[in-house]
Amino acid sequence: MKECIFCKISNGEIQGEKIYENDNFFSIPDANPIAEGHSLIISKRHFATTLELPNTIGAELLDCIKSTSLILMKKYGSNGFNITNNNFKSAGQVVSHVHFHILPRKEGDNKRGIYLG
Ligand code: AMP
Ligand code: ZN
Repeated sequence: MKECIFCKISNGEIQGEKIYENDNFFSIPDANPIAEGHSLIISKRHFATTLELPNTIGAELLDCIKSTSLILMKKYGSNGFNITNNNFKSAGQVVSHVHFHILPRKEGDNKRGIYLG
């Protein structure tokens, strides 16, 4: 996709500070973090939503989510994390290239268990 911001990061047209990557996914810090360490898991190829993701790369998605979350928890001294995935405009998806938000959490950070904002 020519004008897709996440495709541009994926193909190196735009620089992104990669936290972790495997054959089908990579992770970067979110440009507008809503919590310390807020990061994104992004597919290397363009898929609009989770519904388009081939089941065959599910294991790599899980690997990227787990590996990135462990790196972030260590880096930010957190002992928990949330995973959020917005699908379609009605659910708050702004970038139409599938991605998962990772939000590191700490005991007593006064945030709830779900972010809808
Ligand atoms: P969503 O509402 O789930 O589509 O969220 C899109 C997210 O992408 C937002 O949290 C943005 O801050 C983030 N974002 C947009 N452009 C970039 C970028 N170039 N690098 C990192 N994060 C970005
Ligand atoms: Zn894309």
